Amino acid sequence: MHLKILVTAGDGIGPEVTNEAVSVLKEVANIGGHTLELDAKRIGGIAITTDGTPLPADTLAAALDSDAVLLGAVGGNEFNSLPPDKRPEAGLLQIRSALGGFANLRPAFAFKELAINSPLRPEIIDGADILFVRELLGGLYFGQPREWNKATNEAWNTMRYTKAEVVRVARIAFQLAQKRRKKLCSVDKANVLEVSQLWRAAVMEVAAEFPDVALEHQYVDAMAMHIMNRPKDFDVVFTENLFGDILSDEAGVITGSLGMLPSATIGGKVNLYEPIHGSAPDIAGKGLANPLGAILTGALILRHSAGLEAEAAAIETSVRKVLEQGFRTPDLARTNPQGFTVLSTTEMGAKVRETVKTMLVNA
Ligand code: NAD
Repeated sequence: MHLKILVTAGDGIGPEVTNEAVSVLKEVANIGGHTLELDAKRIGGIAITTDGTPLPADTLAAALDSDAVLLGAVGGNEFNSLPPDKRPEAGLLQIRSALGGFANLRPAFAFKELAINSPLRPEIIDGADILFVRELLGGLYFGQPREWNKATNEAWNTMRYTKAEVVRVARIAFQLAQKRRKKLCSVDKANVLEVSQLWRAAVMEVAAEFPDVALEHQYVDAMAMHIMNRPKDFDVVFTENLFGDILSDEAGVITGSLGMLPSATIGGKVNLYEPIHGSAPDIAGKGLANPLGAILTGALILRHSAGLEAEAAAIETSVRKVLEQGFRTPDLARTNPQGFTVLSTTEMGAKVRETVKTMLVNA
């Protein structure tokens, strides 16, 4: 298998964590006899400094010419005074929209070793494993008309979906549920919103194509409670853009650390992969960043852009094993530093690399 990956490491801890993700991917590719064609380009603050724009044309061209883009994070305090369209984050929005992915996948899973980092009780989260599939290009964030009319002191946004927009992302959500525990929970507010009534009708139509997947519907307000009370009951959670933004952040508490969470945006021209955390300027360059979210993001590349499920699962299991053995980055060790071996970013990357190598060589 040959995979062409563009790495846009970005700012702050972005380069530190993507380096570790790439080194794990290289190890896995070597063992399996796969070739990785890697290219690196600038995005965000570093691109503003060097090229005068957060998304240089050659970065975008290289992204469109690759099989997958691995993004670190963008942003830095020195850019905070720039207007929104000139800031590092504008580069992120531009690349997301140019690549065209409409299905945002955000796993939220519990590591029992990290239960102490979660505000939820261990018996509630232990075993929780949810995959959020959030529609990313429609709904309230993009619907027209939208305006803040300062003369009349009114503002409005429009939550709008076409049936086709719901159907295309619903199919992806059902297909993913088929490969998991075959349960899909569609979240809406169909008791109040017409757009949710269309959403629910479209989801039910698509469900007929997937008789092996059990479908349930939940209202978004009830779902916000269920995620906290009984997260283990859910497998794939399928939502529109705004609801998914809120619920997937809420579910982040299941994992207990921002540094652990990967994401993928698929369905467009080229899939985009990024850990969900930002550039963490407060710890950048100090070897303190947790690279596990980026490494788990690498696993998503193998799963969704290369069809290498066994290798993706091996990376995920290796992360679990490293945690089981008591290794932690400082963000994960805050609650009990004496009980753990605290590692730097590169040391943690090396541990996962060694573990995945042992697993795959002995498989
Ligand atoms: P952040 O995610 O960068 O950091 C929040 C807190 O979590 C910080 O204390 C940070 O040290 C810690 N943290 C985050 N990732 C970590 C990791 N891997 N290991 C250990 N600790 C980690 O969010 P923020 O502080 O609100 O934003 C900082 C900058 O990042 C801003 O410029 C913001 O716009 C940008 N940002 C970018 C993205 C992205 O590129 N996708 C996402 C969110 C924020």
